[in-house]
Amino acid sequence: MDTKRTEINKLGEFGLIDHLAASISLVNSTSLKGIGDDAAVIDIGNGDVSLLSTDMLIEGVHFDLTYLPLKYLGYKAVAVNVSDICAMNGVAEQITVSVALSNRFPVEAVEELYDGIKLACSNYHVDLVGGDTTSSLSGLVISITVFGRAKNENVVYRSGAKEHDLIVVTGDLGGAYMGLQILEREKRVFKENPQVQPDLDGHDYILQRQMRPEARVDVINYLKELEVCPTSMIDISDGLASELLHICKNSSVGCHIYDEKIPIDAQTSMTALEFELDPSTCALNGGEDYELLFTIAQKDYEKIKGNPHMTIIGHITDANEGMYYIDKQGTAVELKAQGWTHF
Ligand code: ADP
Ligand code: MG
Repeated sequence: MDTKRTEINKLGEFGLIDHLAASISLVNSTSLKGIGDDAAVIDIGNGDVSLLSTDMLIEGVHFDLTYLPLKYLGYKAVAVNVSDICAMNGVAEQITVSVALSNRFPVEAVEELYDGIKLACSNYHVDLVGGDTTSSLSGLVISITVFGRAKNENVVYRSGAKEHDLIVVTGDLGGAYMGLQILEREKRVFKENPQVQPDLDGHDYILQRQMRPEARVDVINYLKELEVCPTSMIDISDGLASELLHICKNSSVGCHIYDEKIPIDAQTSMTALEFELDPSTCALNGGEDYELLFTIAQKDYEKIKGNPHMTIIGHITDANEGMYYIDKQGTAVELKAQGWTHF
């Protein structure tokens, strides 16, 4: 009998996925891209591809209903899926929604969840076309699968970054993580003293970043208008450092990014300092911003320069030069992915 037992945390989430992917091969010529990007890419003929991605949110792991209302959860579950289609430079068109519910939830609660899902569907022009409903013994599980579409030639993979390309991020980073810190703090205070009202004043922006993230469909449209096709792209769900390492690994390149260039909102910085955290560390390792990280060829610099939605934070180097973050003192620090560890 084989008694071998390897703990999952020995491999980590990404190590486990790589381990499983190594033994999986594709047999259909229509499966253009399988495991390893933000969405799978499927040939549907005439130069068009279907993009397919799925994401599961588990109560107690990904969300806490003591501070995230069900309507927000529904919205967020759709947004994070649409974000993966954006990361392929595609357009999301349909979703299926699967839920596992315990008897803790009345019909009204499920309706609230679906109000958020429907609002997101309407905002992103996505149709809800099916799903599955089942029971759960421990809390709520919501799993959404999204279908998107693109022209095959326009699909952007994690693997296309080239030496000298510029590294760009959209919006600002670290806000969702600091929003979570505020919510967790107020939850602790409430547990200790239920009479105390939560102190959320002055934190509206970062709370919105945590509770109501948006997929950057607008950025995909701007890029199209600007006639810029990124050379590689990924969405930031686990933190800038982790996602940049994915791009570098998949593209077999290195990178330099600069602390002073990383876009951080003033509210994020102030809250980080309040918690005695370095704002840059929050931007590098805090997850759930759902901004886009992409690389562009140098020739497109003028088209992106000064754009209020996009910031150039560094450049791609040869793989031999490694992956570095240049800190405030100008010291090159090797980039390490901390990201989220679920295991
Ligand atoms: P993202 O953060 O963009 O949603 P993930 O890190 O969750 O991407 O997944 C990376 C890749 O691994 C994706 O291609 C995803 O489809 C694939 N993947 C994740 N979990 C599994 C699994 N259990 N079995 C097969 N493929 C998986
Ligand atoms: Mg992704």
